[in-house]
Amino acid sequence: MYIPKIDTAYMIEFLSGLLNTPSPTGFSEAGIDFTEKALKSFSGLEFSRTHKGALVVKWEGQKQDHPRALTAHVDTLGAMVKEIKSNGRLQLTKLGGYAWNTVEGEGCTVFTLEGKAMRGSLLFHKASSHVFGAATGDIKRDDAGMEVRLDEKTSSAEQTAALGIQVGDFVAFDPRLEVTHGFIRSRHLDDKACVANIVTAVKAFSDAKLKPLQTTYLLISNYEEVGHGASAGIPREVEELVAVDMAAVGEGQTSDEFHASICVKDSGGPYHHGLSTHLRRLADRYEIPYKVDIYPYYGSDGEAFWRAGGNVRVALIGPGVDASHNYERTHTDALIATTDWLLAYLMN
Ligand SMILES: [Zn+2]
Repeated sequence: MYIPKIDTAYMIEFLSGLLNTPSPTGFSEAGIDFTEKALKSFSGLEFSRTHKGALVVKWEGQKQDHPRALTAHVDTLGAMVKEIKSNGRLQLTKLGGYAWNTVEGEGCTVFTLEGKAMRGSLLFHKASSHVFGAATGDIKRDDAGMEVRLDEKTSSAEQTAALGIQVGDFVAFDPRLEVTHGFIRSRHLDDKACVANIVTAVKAFSDAKLKPLQTTYLLISNYEEVGHGASAGIPREVEELVAVDMAAVGEGQTSDEFHASICVKDSGGPYHHGLSTHLRRLADRYEIPYKVDIYPYYGSDGEAFWRAGGNVRVALIGPGVDASHNYERTHTDALIATTDWLLAYLMN
């Protein structure tokens, strides 16, 4: 049986729009809205939101006897204002797990309670090597050493407070997206790339006027980066959950930027062998380029649901992403492979 054809241009366009929509964990409603708006142009879908703000989509299948779910997350790494410093700059606290050096020098936006978006950049406090010499490079980056330099005339805590900035304001780092030679280079491909895979799979079915074999729920989750994204929102009758999230690329890994990967084990232990095997056989049958891998420092929303008591088979697939939780990059080949894999799964 053939799988429907995917619209690659649409996938890249949707992904670009989502990447350019700031959605740090805890402040990701814009990403949820953007995804819902795209999905609303397809028929046969029913929409709801969980109380904590995740998007749940019911996609009617040809059969209803073994309901399934797919999940991907729109929330990303980010930060929150911890303190307004006496020099008017902002000390941050991290949202999600990453190293400060991966965002040093990046542009950022501070979202105030009154709805203003203030621009700035994240710098080490001894930023100028003309002033601090070797210290600019030698000192370890920690919370106290990093600060947001606002693009505003302020040099005191009072002046910054007068701009409307408060402790607890969310901060989003610029994605710095560039699409070149088939590569997509951007922050937050984790996990917006996989949201794009799911939305593109829905479009492929819609374009081909097909329904998935089984009724399938899509959970677009909003707290994955802090560990409890998919812990709620997957209906009780669901028997199988495929978490769609990036594959970890680097030394010692089988994953790369040109393949989809199936993760058979990560920090949370093994995934469901039966469902993983089923997905591998499907990939073989449809000649989808994939790798089998183990991610050493990694957890997923599939495990979040397991830990919350979810009684389902769970597997994890996704495109290879280089330099994850850093300035990330993947290739269109990996996005196509992941979407094709979802289509094969949904058809069978
Ligand atoms: Zn992720």
